[in-house]
Formats: sequence, C-alpha cells, structure tokens
Amino acid sequence: MNKILNFHLVNDMAWFEKTIILIKSKYNMVSIDTLDEYYQGKIKLKNACHITVDDGDETFYRIIYPVLKKHNIPASLYVSPKIFNEQINYWFQEIEGYDFDIVKKIVAEMTNTPVDKLAPYSVWDIMKVMQVSTIHDILTEYRKRTNTPLKPYQNMSIAELREVDQQGLVTIGGHTMNHPILMNESDESSHYEISNSINELAKLLGHPVKCFSYPNGIPGYDFTDRECDTLKRNGITLTFSTEARDFSDKDNVYKIPRIGVSNSEGQLFLKAKLFLGPVWLILKKLKPSGEYVNRVQIKKIIGNQ
Ligand SMILES: [Zn+2]
Repeated sequence: MNKILNFHLVNDMAWFEKTIILIKSKYNMVSIDTLDEYYQGKIKLKNACHITVDDGDETFYRIIYPVLKKHNIPASLYVSPKIFNEQINYWFQEIEGYDFDIVKKIVAEMTNTPVDKLAPYSVWDIMKVMQVSTIHDILTEYRKRTNTPLKPYQNMSIAELREVDQQGLVTIGGHTMNHPILMNESDESSHYEISNSINELAKLLGHPVKCFSYPNGIPGYDFTDRECDTLKRNGITLTFSTEARDFSDKDNVYKIPRIGVSNSEGQLFLKAKLFLGPVWLILKKLKPSGEYVNRVQIKKIIGNQ
C-alpha cells in the first residue's frame, strides 16, 4: 500500500505528533523528488507515504512544521502566492463565523432565487457552485451590510514561507490564486488561476515550481482535463487531487490521489484509514459525500448565476 495523505489546518500539536509517529511506524516516508522519480518509472515504491498540506495557514509553521522537522519527515505544501503577497485570507477563512442566514439572503438576491429554496443547503456547498469572483462579491456585500471588517491575516508570513522552502524538508507547490472550484471558472479564469499561481510563487521563492494541488480536488467535479493541460503547459510535473485511494504507477500524474486526514479524527478511524487500504475505501464508498450531490442540486436551483 502506497499512500499520499492530505492535511489542512491542524491546531493540536500533540494529535499531529501522535499521528506522524503512527504513520512513520508503518510507512517509508518519501519526498516529492522520490515521488517524481517513481512516476518517471526510475524507481519502485513499497509501503511509501508522502505527506501533503494545503493552504499554508499559520498553523503550518507553528504546529505542523516543527513536528515534521523533529521527526525528519519530508512533505509538500500547496499555497496561493496571492494570499502571501497581499496578506489576505482565503475566502473560506473569511466567511467562517459569518451569519449564514444573511449570506444565503445575499445569494438569493444576487441569483434571483427564493431564499427558502436555499434553506436545505450549507453555505459551503452553495459557495462551491459559484465562480470565485461571485464569492468575493457576496463576501464584500456581507461586510458592507453588516459592518464587518476583514479578519486579521491567518496565514504564514512570506519570511516563514521562504524559510520553509530554503530548509529543504518541505517542497512548496501552487494551489491557484483565489482558491476557486476551477471547474466553475471560464477558460480564461482557470488559466489565470493556475498559470499566475505558478509564476508568482516561483517569483516569491526564487526558483521554478514543479508541483500543484487542486482546491477541493475531486476529478470531474472540481477540475477537468482542461486544468491538467494548463498545468502540463506550465511545466508542472506532479499534481494532486483529493480522490481518496492508494497511489500507483498507473496514475495520471495530473490526478494523483490523496487521502484526507482531518484534525478531528480519532486514532481508531485514522488507523482504519491508514492500514485497511482497499477495505476502508469500500467502507467510504458506502457513505458518499453529500457535497457533490448537493452541488448538482444547488446548480439546478440557481443556475450558473
Ligand atoms: Zn485548499
């Protein structure tokens, strides 16, 4: 079993260290360079595990990175250069804690949809059928109506990002500019989100960027072959999805699967996920994610704006 794991925000260092020790006890921890050689057919991997972290919020530097260093675990981190350059939060950080009834009211007005039709759905699912410029418009309107200021910056500093990059244990890759669901975007916007994130990140770090992860990341729902082509043309060699299965040398290198691990998971569930392999994947299929079912329904209700 070869696995790539995907973390986001981690706010409990003891939990993260316990999790890393558990993973390290069963797997050979590999770097992006090793994965690259594997996908080029130069080496074989058995019982390998690569750690990925998305977004680059401040907990990466404060909680995740010290544990990776202590245990000498290679990893890769996927970030938007826009967040760092402009010292702004991702839309999903900004909307956290908003009054979701008011957000839904704004969506209803902007899309000419009766507000009660949106009632059964979460604001997260509703946002994920929108183009990212519309999400920004909704958030701006919310702040105007409710006199809500922008939140303080919640992500790593540029100095921290560069320090992590230069120390070499963690490889940094692109993750778009505005964290859209790429599939919702026009050709032009999808191209901008990918190409600019790679170029701007390379400028920030002072060297080319070779890897990328898709926001949300389910093939066919969050991105398509259009995005894979753009990544290829931009010199990216490895791209990660969130399709939850073990990786193999038959994978498309622009759709490499990753298994998500969240903060709230107990050790028992985590052990099942890490060590049951295909059995866990079958268990997971019995419980399909409601998000994608809901998004199709929401799209029908509001149209594509
Ligand atoms: Zn993300």
